[in-house]
Amino acid sequence: MDCLFCKIIDRKIPAQFVHEDEHAVAIQDINPQAPVHLLVIPRKHLVALSDAAAQDQMLLGHLLRIGAELARERGLEAQGFRTVINNGAGAGQTVFHLHVHVLGGRPFHWPPG
Ligand code: AMP
Ligand code: ZN
Repeated sequence: MDCLFCKIIDRKIPAQFVHEDEHAVAIQDINPQAPVHLLVIPRKHLVALSDAAAQDQMLLGHLLRIGAELARERGLEAQGFRTVINNGAGAGQTVFHLHVHVLGGRPFHWPPG
């Protein structure tokens, strides 16, 4: 399958890994939008959040929990951090393998752009 994140997970394309477990990996975003910008990626190829089914419920929770843990490890809990899932090109999704952005280390505004 011609999927960038599947290739990264399979170590066919290099990336800076910050976490790995049975169900997910986390890497540094190659084009960071904040001092901390990580991507939590399920090993299972789901195209987007809207591709997830009932059987993926545990996996979705896992991705968020790992994101929070990585943010906590980086001391971001007090100042806050942001998790983002872009779903579909219209929402800014450019890699069509589900991933959770974890951003921190600068102020964030609301509503997002
Ligand atoms: P999205 O636009 O929500 O689909 O997010 C895709 C993210 O993947 C963007 O923030 C990109 O900077 C990031 N990205 C693209 N290619 C790579 C790569 N080879 N290694 C790490 N991150 C990447
Ligand atoms: Zn994939």
